[in-house]
Amino acid sequence: MDLSRLWARLNPLTSPFALIDILVVALLVYWLLGIVRGTRAVQLLRGIGIVLALTIFVGTVARDQLQTLSWLLSTIVTPALIVGVPVLFQPELRRALESLGRSSELLSRPLSGANRSELLETINSISRAAIQLSQQGVGALIVIERNSRLQEYAERGVILDSRISTALLLNIFYPNAPLHDMAVIVRGNRILAANVVLPLSEDVIGPRRYGTRHRAAKGISEQTDALAVVVSEETGAISLVQDGRMASYLTEARLRTMLAGLLSVPLEAEGK
Ligand code: ATP
Ligand code: MG
Repeated sequence: MDLSRLWARLNPLTSPFALIDILVVALLVYWLLGIVRGTRAVQLLRGIGIVLALTIFVGTVARDQLQTLSWLLSTIVTPALIVGVPVLFQPELRRALESLGRSSELLSRPLSGANRSELLETINSISRAAIQLSQQGVGALIVIERNSRLQEYAERGVILDSRISTALLLNIFYPNAPLHDMAVIVRGNRILAANVVLPLSEDVIGPRRYGTRHRAAKGISEQTDALAVVVSEETGAISLVQDGRMASYLTEARLRTMLAGLLSVPLEAEGK
């Protein structure tokens, strides 16, 4: 009896909406999990899941037995979650909405409209500059724009909009040069801005305790889809950060290959 009713509700011929409903919710959950995977948000989500499960359990099953607790949960927890979730998940929500807004643009405007030879120029200039800065013990932070626009960050710094080159990057980061502090933002084959202050990541746990340069690199990669190349002043290590994940102690060749992969630029084209 129940099964036949269930079938009637799920039968795509009589009611296609139930299936669409399930499909949409499943896709939504899948999309959300994809966004938070590997980030700090996973633990937060787990905590919220437990609180929600408890609230639902107390509110439905034990409502009459545990009246005070059920009152407490329904009057405090639910509103607290409504206010708390957007605050706690601000970076994730921002990225999610941005990626949603982007998906339609993705096909027509890959990587801010930069073409492959421009990106190759960027990859080569940055990897060469990184190894030289590392050898000279100079710290640097270079952020490469992908699909999320970094305009609002760039405007907090000094706008340059100059053609990228290894020499210019070295010049910018040279100690005591007026623009050496903070980060450089690269769009296509141009240095959009220098001296840019980035948001710091809360995540400080790594192979060693991260200082502000590495936390800024992680921060921008958590809030946008940008890539960040860091040269450590202290250790000379070259790192590449994407989505809050950091790969360290890279060689010039490794950095070049990783950048090419992440920017979808085939390296064979150059014959190297
Ligand atoms: P290093 O390995 O090079 O020492 P670190 O991760 O230990 O790096 P710090 O020693 O704190 O970090 O690096 C300080 C430098 O980081 C500053 O001189 C500045 O250039 C840069 N920096 C600090 N805060 C920011 C920020 N919010 N955005 C961009 N760059 C920043
Ligand atoms: Mg330091």
